[in-house]
Amino acid sequence: MKKDEGMEYDLAVIGGGSGGYAAARTAASLGLKTVVIEGGEEIGGLCILRGCMPTKALLQSAEVAHIAQKAHVWGIDIPQVQINFPNVMARKNFLIDDFAGFCREQLTRGDRFQFIQAKAKFLDPHTLLLSNGSQLSARHFLVSTGSRVSPSPIGSLMDVGYITSDEVLKLSKLPSSVVVLGGGVVAVELGPVLPPSGSPDIGCAAKFPSPQGAGCGRIPNIIRCIYC
Ligand SMILES: Cc1cc2nc3c(=O)[nH]c(=O)nc-3n(C[C@H](O)[C@H](O)[C@H](O)COP(=O)(O)OP(=O)(O)OC[C@H]3O[C@@H](n4cnc5c(N)ncnc54)[C@H](O)[C@@H]3O)c2cc1C
Repeated sequence: MKKDEGMEYDLAVIGGGSGGYAAARTAASLGLKTVVIEGGEEIGGLCILRGCMPTKALLQSAEVAHIAQKAHVWGIDIPQVQINFPNVMARKNFLIDDFAGFCREQLTRGDRFQFIQAKAKFLDPHTLLLSNGSQLSARHFLVSTGSRVSPSPIGSLMDVGYITSDEVLKLSKLPSSVVVLGGGVVAVELGPVLPPSGSPDIGCAAKFPSPQGAGCGRIPNIIRCIYC
């Protein structure tokens, strides 16, 4: 028997986030017999559930609040801007649910590629063992298992406690003050979200030591100027 003969699939995609879904769709459209294996309890991947989508939803609310608070610049007086944080979060949750539902439907409809909800691990270079106890074989594999939030490199932070982007997106009320540590894209994005979504007297001490990936050294100053 040739090495590739007897394989159930041409391609097995491990991980059904944005990367895995796009790869599976492309492979299937090229005629490859494809399966996606997703091990998370929720289907949708980081982008929809805890990344791009929820942060953009919150940024939009923050921008509306910011414009309303600065409306006098455009000659419009808005005496008091009230932000209803539970409603801001409810809108964000509604949008995520809507997108995750669409993503679930696209992944599971079964007419282009097969979808299995289980965690996968390799038994050998062509065989996966799934957490539902079954095995499957494929000629090729695409590992798109994403990433996890890494623990803070500042050891002493463990003593005082901190929240990560995952927890920010689940807050039920705004903290009274926020220090954003780091200058990567997530910090630059989430830092501005918190103060303008809350009452105007919420303070923000944002520190952006090195705006990695922000692409422009002026961005941190602009953010400080506008939001803090
Ligand atoms: C706060 C935040 C904001 C962001 N904003 C943006 C943005 O605006 N624009 C942008 O382009 N990117 C943004 N990103 C990055 C973007 O979300 C990720 O790059 C992207 O979602 C990664 O997709 P992925 O398919 O590689 O991984 P994921 O979406 O993480 O998918 C991996 C999947 O693999 C599954 N899995 C893991 N192990 C196994 C296993 N053993 N078996 C089976 N399944 C497994 C997981 O359950 C998961 O569903 C943001 C990220 C964050 C945190």
